Amino acid sequence: MIKRLLSKRNVYFDHNATTHIASPVRSIMNRVMKSYWGNPSSGYAKGKMSAQIIERAREQVAAAIGAHSHEVYFASCATESNNALLKTVSDHFYPEKNKIISTPIEHPSVINTLEYLKGKNITVQYCPVDRAGHIILEELEAMVDDRTFLVCCMLANNEIGTVQDVKKVAAIAKSKGALVFSDCVQALGKIPVNVKELGVDYATFSAHKLYGPKGIGAWYARISSPLIPFLHGGHQEEGMRAGTESIHNIAGFGEACKHINKLVTAAAKNQSQKKIFLSELKTMKEDLIINSPMDNCLTNTINVSFPGIGSGELMKMLDYNGIAVSAGSACSTSLKKPSHVLKAIGLTDEAAQESIRISLGIETKDKDIRYALKVIKQYIEQNK
Ligand code: PLP
Repeated sequence: MIKRLLSKRNVYFDHNATTHIASPVRSIMNRVMKSYWGNPSSGYAKGKMSAQIIERAREQVAAAIGAHSHEVYFASCATESNNALLKTVSDHFYPEKNKIISTPIEHPSVINTLEYLKGKNITVQYCPVDRAGHIILEELEAMVDDRTFLVCCMLANNEIGTVQDVKKVAAIAKSKGALVFSDCVQALGKIPVNVKELGVDYATFSAHKLYGPKGIGAWYARISSPLIPFLHGGHQEEGMRAGTESIHNIAGFGEACKHINKLVTAAAKNQSQKKIFLSELKTMKEDLIINSPMDNCLTNTINVSFPGIGSGELMKMLDYNGIAVSAGSACSTSLKKPSHVLKAIGLTDEAAQESIRISLGIETKDKDIRYALKVIKQYIEQNK
């Protein structure tokens, strides 16, 4: 039995960590688990029906990102997809070319893979970002050279919400003969994503950030861009990622992508809630530090530091009152180290450890915002 830890209120403000599974997604997953459990590689009808479910979902994911279905590969999550692309593209180019340029605010599944690749003789350089987290394009231009095979820049940051000008990043990389990889996990479902318009060669996605199931991700590889197998075994995913497919998860991912335009429209509505949240917080705590940029930022993401208040105690107090937020990102919440993203945009260790991330969702109500503001205000007044 799972112990009930919820207070009477249940306000979920951690949509960048994960989202609930939307009802149409749950329905199709249940249907697939009940009726389409045949092995998609089997040659008889039961297997072929499962294979059809997968191909339909592939088309749905491709449509959501502006790609051709042949360019979409399913994997167990975005972490796996990031590992697969960075490691295999490096294998393809090394030793003729040996340099990757990235940013210091990438997700740990990118940063830690890049750090691993350093041990395989790949030179990794991090292009600085400004106080808003935007990559400094002039610096990038100076860093890309003829040894560079890949420029890796996320589209939207998970902790502070910064949206990068990936189109310009891609133009710089292409002008110097390098390929472009973008982790689009936080962008999909919140802003329009079109891999062709962005001009990227590789991109990654995760279903559980857009009201789909956990345990399923995908990578995009532009037709004719270098790709070599990551998991060796059977011929699944064109031989690039062997292993019997998680049909219900893939179908759920496809269904979530079917609603992409609705999600993006709903996310745009978070903008006014975010504005109210920020202006009220600023009124109740004048020295509040706003870590999310004002422009080119996800409409749902609010990252702020409360000087003099540790994020751990603030989070605990909010949790006690039924409000879920995170300190930094979910991945670093359990770590004592200050967030690498907040450090990279110039925060002190102290300010980084006083930060919380509030990430709104498509079902966030104005009354949830009012309730959270009331709870925070009380806490600040009691601790003056
Ligand atoms: N990339 C970004 C930007 C993320 O925010 C996350 C998850 O938090 C991931 C990658 C990893 O996704 P997954 O949970 O599917 O491994």
